[in-house]
Amino acid sequence: CQIQALRSVQDQLGLEKLYVLGTPCVDNVTREGLQKFLETTSKSPDTVVHYEFMQDFRVHFKHEDGSEEKVPFFGLKTNQLKDVFAPSCMSCFDYVNSLADLVVGYMGAPFGWQWIVVRNDTGQEMLDLVKDQLDTQAVSEKGDRKQAVQQSIPAYDKGVTLPMWAAQLMGVVIERIGPKGLEYARFSIDSHFTRNYLYVKRNYPEKLEEHVPEFAKRIVEQYELPEN
Ligand code: SF4
Repeated sequence: CQIQALRSVQDQLGLEKLYVLGTPCVDNVTREGLQKFLETTSKSPDTVVHYEFMQDFRVHFKHEDGSEEKVPFFGLKTNQLKDVFAPSCMSCFDYVNSLADLVVGYMGAPFGWQWIVVRNDTGQEMLDLVKDQLDTQAVSEKGDRKQAVQQSIPAYDKGVTLPMWAAQLMGVVIERIGPKGLEYARFSIDSHFTRNYLYVKRNYPEKLEEHVPEFAKRIVEQYELPEN
């Protein structure tokens, strides 16, 4: 959304040239929401200095002392966390940062790697500057996201929360057989788009048709959503 704002004023900025590097973006939280998330998810909420939802289906927390804590997605207290995301992010369909020149993030890459999307010549120019310092490999994909996305829809809606031992077990299983690489990216995009479509439909029904972009509607149509 910051890049949408930037693009709308870029011609008035008097810049010689503008280079826009972005990341995929999803689920930002309010300050109170962040506190609630940390307190319900981490063993030591006061020492967390960084966290990230990673493609091994776990949240990785970094603590002040350098230690790392991993919590499986399935162990999140979804029933308490439904209201922590900003309404703007619950109605956003720009997960892949479509207006940046170059996008770097982990979501379509194997664990430990980053995924790079070059959108235009400017993005290519930026990538060329650092290309010989990077290790690269072709994108890959494995698994099938469809069932996992479909199951996530009622689970999120009902706020299903598993006990930690079951969540850990589920985390190990899904890491072995779940979607990977580009298919993980599709899993993440599809599950957020279906969730956000339902959010807009329930809260701003009069804006649904106009607000949701066609590409998002085509994704959402592939799944069965609750009637109301
Ligand atoms: S998810 Fe969308 S609305 Fe929220 S911060 Fe990211 S781009 Fe902006």
